[in-house]
Amino acid sequence: MRIAEIQVRVFTYPSRVVRDTDGHTHPGPEHAARQGLLTLRTEDGADGYCFGSPEALRPAVLDAFIKPVLVGQDPMDRERLWHGMARWQRGSGGNLTDRTLAIVELALWDLAGRALGVPVWKLLGGCRDRVPAYGSTMCGDELEGGLATPEDYARFAEQLKTRGYPAIKLHTWMPPVSFAPSVAMDLKACAAVREAVGPDFPLMLDANHWYSRTEALELGRGIQQLGYYWYEEPMDEHSTSAYRWLCDQLEIPVLGPEMAEGKHHTRAEWIRAGACDILRAGVMDVGGIGPTLKAAHLAESFYMDCEIHGGGPGNLAVLGAIPNGRWYERGLLHPFLDHDTPPPYLHRLNDPMDSDGFIPMPTAPGLGEKIHFEYIQEHLTSTWS
Ligand code: MG
Repeated sequence: MRIAEIQVRVFTYPSRVVRDTDGHTHPGPEHAARQGLLTLRTEDGADGYCFGSPEALRPAVLDAFIKPVLVGQDPMDRERLWHGMARWQRGSGGNLTDRTLAIVELALWDLAGRALGVPVWKLLGGCRDRVPAYGSTMCGDELEGGLATPEDYARFAEQLKTRGYPAIKLHTWMPPVSFAPSVAMDLKACAAVREAVGPDFPLMLDANHWYSRTEALELGRGIQQLGYYWYEEPMDEHSTSAYRWLCDQLEIPVLGPEMAEGKHHTRAEWIRAGACDILRAGVMDVGGIGPTLKAAHLAESFYMDCEIHGGGPGNLAVLGAIPNGRWYERGLLHPFLDHDTPPPYLHRLNDPMDSDGFIPMPTAPGLGEKIHFEYIQEHLTSTWS
């Protein structure tokens, strides 16, 4: 089995999600959003797929760094191919990102699963056939009836609890919201949500990522008193020392790192430094399923949990294969948006949630996505290979 073709299809679909000037997503007017679909095809016709941004899969990146490593090679040699791609990163002038690495690696896993007739989470070493979700809110906004006030958060938390979510994570207000960042407002929202869902319901906080040490400590002490379960990324993650300082002074578990570069190697350093109590990794942040599994296994070796960042079929597959990630991150959720209808380029949701708050592991081979190829063909804007 040899990889013969690498193809990217770019298409549009209607979306009501827009980004603010800091890159955070919010509800907005309907518009045509662009999406890319990477296909890896072998000479005997086996296929593997992964969705990704067209920018991450642009022709110059594929031509310079991906095709030279993959074409003509056995797609089952994922570890060798991953290292071959990862080594290109140093000399790529920043053009080959962990995100691109992840999209290609996920397509390799999908291809292997489809070729063998096995779901990826089973290939990784099946551990459980369902995982509980937490409802992960969008960042706060200034939309009337949206997530503009502590009361809005409280009302939305009640709705999510009624929907069946067994845990909720708040993303509070961040710039360019006019009054953000604000420790006082964050604490008001956290208190209002605690009041709404009751004392025993698991809650987590992911606040502004650029607080100072003293602000981060004040907020951490506040949500500790409110019985929150974890505290996520209140400061930029490039100072491991600052996180160690924070961890040393809080009882509430500090979770991280989420965005810090360096794949599983950085996660090892955070454990060693005592800069987190719960480890964090997600397939799109660390370069794929392989390095995420390495991070999770590393955490397990130290009797630590490793909570998986973000949703999607790759992260779900990892959760199906590890015992030490408690929840699947489902979202980002907002009262104006529907998260229980699949996008038009999928026949079914990747993460359907039952009324008890569990996501079942997919039974279909590969990553289990039911791709609506006809829709993609009808809304194609460009193709390259
Ligand atoms: Mg986060």
